[in-house]
Amino acid sequence: MSELKEPEKRPLSTSPVPPSPPKKRARTDQSDNDSSRQHYDLPDEISYRALADKYAELKPYLVTESSQRSTIDFKDPDAVRVLNQALLSVYFDLRIHLPSNSLCPTIANRLNYIKWLSTNIIPDLVHGPLTGLDIGTGASCIYPLLGARYLPQCKFVGTDINEESVAIASQNVDQNELHSRIKVFLNTDRLTTLPLDAVDFPLPDVDVEGSRFAFCMCNPPFYENINERLRLRQMKREAPSLNTIAKDDELYTEGGEERFLSRLVDESVVCAKRIKWYTTMVGKKNTLALLKTKLRGAGAKQ
Ligand code: SAH
Repeated sequence: MSELKEPEKRPLSTSPVPPSPPKKRARTDQSDNDSSRQHYDLPDEISYRALADKYAELKPYLVTESSQRSTIDFKDPDAVRVLNQALLSVYFDLRIHLPSNSLCPTIANRLNYIKWLSTNIIPDLVHGPLTGLDIGTGASCIYPLLGARYLPQCKFVGTDINEESVAIASQNVDQNELHSRIKVFLNTDRLTTLPLDAVDFPLPDVDVEGSRFAFCMCNPPFYENINERLRLRQMKREAPSLNTIAKDDELYTEGGEERFLSRLVDESVVCAKRIKWYTTMVGKKNTLALLKTKLRGAGAKQ
């Protein structure tokens, strides 16, 4: 278990085919046309006090700033966990168990990736329903859960190498009655990012233009080891404002995110069109440069 500040990450995407010109948001599912469908999103501004009125477990963690404003102590992992549960419950109708030893996902940051997919990837996929693959879904199963709410035309398969995380992720899916839209798979080979041919891999029951998955997404473990983490932390001018608690599997991977994502590129060449759009978060600028060169070498057009 370790503490650190999460780096800013930017999504990177590639596809074996260039994307179509920008279109208006695709209408891919009947529920998309249903104006009565609830719109799940975070508000532009969040009042912690108003949130605590709707989610009472947050009340003990409120810190009064003024007669008008309250906040929470972002250095207190329990306060951050309950805040995340409150946001998920009030704005996304999701009840999730976030274990105290696991990464506590920042909801706005995770939602941004889902919104980025919605703007940049989904419009290129006009035939629904769609299935996305979340590589390293974590105990929270955050991307599939948020995705199930924000992208009503999507189903998800989430993978992870950590047995405990897979068990809790599956519970989170079940307690939200989303098992018809989300499957969680234990990847027993940590040197594989796309275990599409593994025994019992839950292949989605939809096929998008010959691809089994419409897209993959990933928030990789990005450090090689604790030394790299400490070295990068020292390079930051400001002290972390948020303490992140995480399991080692969530932070460290042999060779760091460079090797993890490099492997994803290699595997994408083999899996090619079984996934239409390959996307991932990238933590370090150096990795981005390395991946761009590698992708060009692999013949990625976009
Ligand atoms: N998606 C979650 C967790 C990200 S942490 C979130 O955004 O909060 C990275 C996750 O990748 C960890 O849960 C780790 O166990 C998992 N992981 C590491 N190697 C993996 C591999 N080869 N295949 C699938 N998951 C892997």
